[in-house]
Amino acid sequence: MKLLKISVFITILSIALVVFGSETSSIVNASEDAEIKNVLIINSYHEGFTWTRELTKGIIETLNDSGNNISIQVEYMDWKNNPTKENLEYLYDYYEFKYQNKSLDIIITTDDIALEFALEHRKEIFHNAPIVFAGVNQSGMEDIVCGYTKITGVIEVIDPNPTLELALTINPELKNVYLIFDNSESGLSTGNIAINHIKSRYKELNIIPCNHMTYEELINTVQGLEEDSMVLITTYYSDVNNQRFEMDFVNRDVSENSRVPTYQIYDFGLNNGILGGVMISGRLQGELAGGLALQILQGAEIDNIPIITKLITRTVIDYEQLERFEIDEDILPKNVEIINRPFSFYETYKTLVISVTSAFFALIVFVGILLFYIKKIRKMKEELRESHEELTQIYEELAASDEEIREQYDQMKTINKKLKEGEEKLAFLAFHDSLTGLPNKLSLYEDTKAILLPGKGMSALLFIDIDNFKNVNDVMGHAFGDKIIIKVGERLSQALKNGQTLYRLSGDEFIIIIENLKEPAEAEQFASHILNLFSEELEVLGTSMQINISIGIAIYPNHGFDLESLLKCADIAMYYVKDIGKKNYILYQDHMNQAFIERVNIEKYLRKALDHNEIEIYYQPQLDIQKNQIIGFEALLRWNSPQLGSVPPIKFIKVAEETHCIIPLGTWVLKNACKFIYDLREQGYGNYSVSVNISILQLLQKDFCDIISDILNMYQLEAHYLELEITESILMESFERIESNLKRLRDMKVRIALDDFGKGYSSLNYLKQLPITTLKIDKSFIDIVTSYQKNYLAEHIITIGKSMGMCVVAEGVEKQEQLEYLKIHECDRMQGYLFSRPIPKDEILKLL
Ligand code: C2E
Ligand code: MG
Ligand code: MG
Repeated sequence: MKLLKISVFITILSIALVVFGSETSSIVNASEDAEIKNVLIINSYHEGFTWTRELTKGIIETLNDSGNNISIQVEYMDWKNNPTKENLEYLYDYYEFKYQNKSLDIIITTDDIALEFALEHRKEIFHNAPIVFAGVNQSGMEDIVCGYTKITGVIEVIDPNPTLELALTINPELKNVYLIFDNSESGLSTGNIAINHIKSRYKELNIIPCNHMTYEELINTVQGLEEDSMVLITTYYSDVNNQRFEMDFVNRDVSENSRVPTYQIYDFGLNNGILGGVMISGRLQGELAGGLALQILQGAEIDNIPIITKLITRTVIDYEQLERFEIDEDILPKNVEIINRPFSFYETYKTLVISVTSAFFALIVFVGILLFYIKKIRKMKEELRESHEELTQIYEELAASDEEIREQYDQMKTINKKLKEGEEKLAFLAFHDSLTGLPNKLSLYEDTKAILLPGKGMSALLFIDIDNFKNVNDVMGHAFGDKIIIKVGERLSQALKNGQTLYRLSGDEFIIIIENLKEPAEAEQFASHILNLFSEELEVLGTSMQINISIGIAIYPNHGFDLESLLKCADIAMYYVKDIGKKNYILYQDHMNQAFIERVNIEKYLRKALDHNEIEIYYQPQLDIQKNQIIGFEALLRWNSPQLGSVPPIKFIKVAEETHCIIPLGTWVLKNACKFIYDLREQGYGNYSVSVNISILQLLQKDFCDIISDILNMYQLEAHYLELEITESILMESFERIESNLKRLRDMKVRIALDDFGKGYSSLNYLKQLPITTLKIDKSFIDIVTSYQKNYLAEHIITIGKSMGMCVVAEGVEKQEQLEYLKIHECDRMQGYLFSRPIPKDEILKLL
């Protein structure tokens, strides 16, 4: 940008200068309009002579360039061609005629004869005008000018030494100088001046003057020159024979023939084959003479203007000759003017080229800068585009993460909501049972804080427990047990009225709190109502099931003032119900506490009883009624505890079942019962069978049949001598689970007796489906057989049993009439005090 500005400024400045400059010169011209000065130039020679022509040109141009109003007349005396007296006389007449009556301000003469003529005739025909001369050498001038005034001029100083100096620069080996001049007056004059000058300075050089040679000899000489020679021409118009030659021809011919470079002392010799030289210039002499004339015309006193005597030359070399002689241009002095150089656009239009080139370079720099900036702008654009893209990407990412954050916020909200719900659920769960959704034990504690208060009136706490739930749970699995608990909870809930709240305490235990009782009987009525609700079977996982409950009742404040006390009393009452046969309710009484304590003790001591040999087996004989013969024995456990005394099996078996002690105990009984038969056989009492009571828990053992099989093997007892007694209630609860084991036992030929038949809900269906071999009629059916009363039930059972191909056994036969009755009704076997109580095995031996 800066460069462009500079170029424009320069252009404007140049235009301004041109316009201003031209105006100034025109002004000068206008002011010089006043007086015309007349100048007469008289040349000694003819117009065609180059020297003369150059002199005249130099004079005229200087005068004209001064801007003065000058009228110039030019005359040629043609002295070279007519050096005669007649010519002079003729010229006199001619100039007289021409100038006598014409005013002349100055006369400028060139060369000798013109100066002589003008001086001689100045007064007569040239108005005694002042004279300025040129082209006259020192000695010539002295001869001519002697005694004259109003004269000045430019001496033509002849000195070839600067040319020799140049020649020596070009060829330092130079030894011989062939000096060409003619024998004319002026020729000899310049020739001698030259010789003197050279001799005075270059003593070592040989000067060979050629003025005594014919032209032919001259040419022959130059043709044979050696390298150490040079040719120097001064003036030569004729040879020794006076044969005339044109100077241009001589210069050209000599140069062309010379084997070495030819030098000249006059510049009019140029362009004719001359190499060059430090040359006297007609033009320069003319310019100086013109300058002197101008001073005089402008009023200077001519006699005060000294004659110019300095050497006036130009150093010129012809390029073509440089090439011809293979001279290195670089060795030439700096001031050398080289002519005839082949056209070089650069040299010719150097300034133009430089300015155009500078402008071009400026332009290139400008374009370069422009391109640089364009590139930079492009790069910036690209970077901008990239950062825009990056920004867009970042924006998109931000938008995306904004979306993500929004989503996470929503998720947080959901989680928060769930947490809140969870908290509420937890709060609910803290006070509610997860299985049934009923208020739990904690809730019971919380609620009763407000109920069991003095002045709040009477309340009842019902402790409800599902009968045989342990068995059901063990047999059917916990999932099934859970379902039963849920169903029981639902059924209990149906019974509730205002002021009655149901809680699930744990396992199969439920609590109902009844507030604001009038009397304890109200609670008993409610319990009875509940029991009735359970007379209907429960639908559990597609099967109908008879589920019974036992209820213990405690009254506030009668049986306690706080929840713990009431819970304990109700629990005891509930256990009491269980003891007396389950499926019932009872109001707590103090004596129940004793039974409860007893049960707790049983549990406590039973664990060690077997290890301490406190348990033994009694055997009660079974008789064939018809044959009145012992055919086997029922093994019945007896526990004589040092702490508790004799504990009846009805009491400890239940506890053993609940604590699962029954499994090892049961196996122990099985082993000993079989061993008892084995021992009998050992002592010679063969073919007696043994009946062993089996708990459902034993029957549920996967390897139960294997255990039986092992024991039979151990005592080499045939399977049909072993009878397993299972109670009817057990069968009903766990029919499906024990079915496979029972069938396997049957396949093993082990006998299976259904104990206490008729006591519970006897189902003939089971009888048909199960591999029962023996039916034991419950003692209660036998008890009612008296001599006064017929018993159709017992009769009926015997008939059914026998019709199904079973052996029917009557239990608890105490009286003779009972035996008679059984005999009449063809009962197969009997067992009872009538014949024998259960007795130790030693006594059996005695009995046998
Ligand atoms: P159960 O199997 O029905 O046994 C018959 C019960 O009636 C026995 O009571 C026996 O002593 C009693 N009994 C026999 N004849 C008479 C009689 O004429 N009059 C009276 N009043 N009673 C008679 P016990 O020995 O007290 O056994 C009670 C129950 O304990 C058994 O009833 C049985 O269910 C169970 N039990 C006894 N030993 C075992 C055992 O080793 N394992 C299992 N699981 N249970 C056993
Ligand atoms: Mg029995
Ligand atoms: Mg029985």
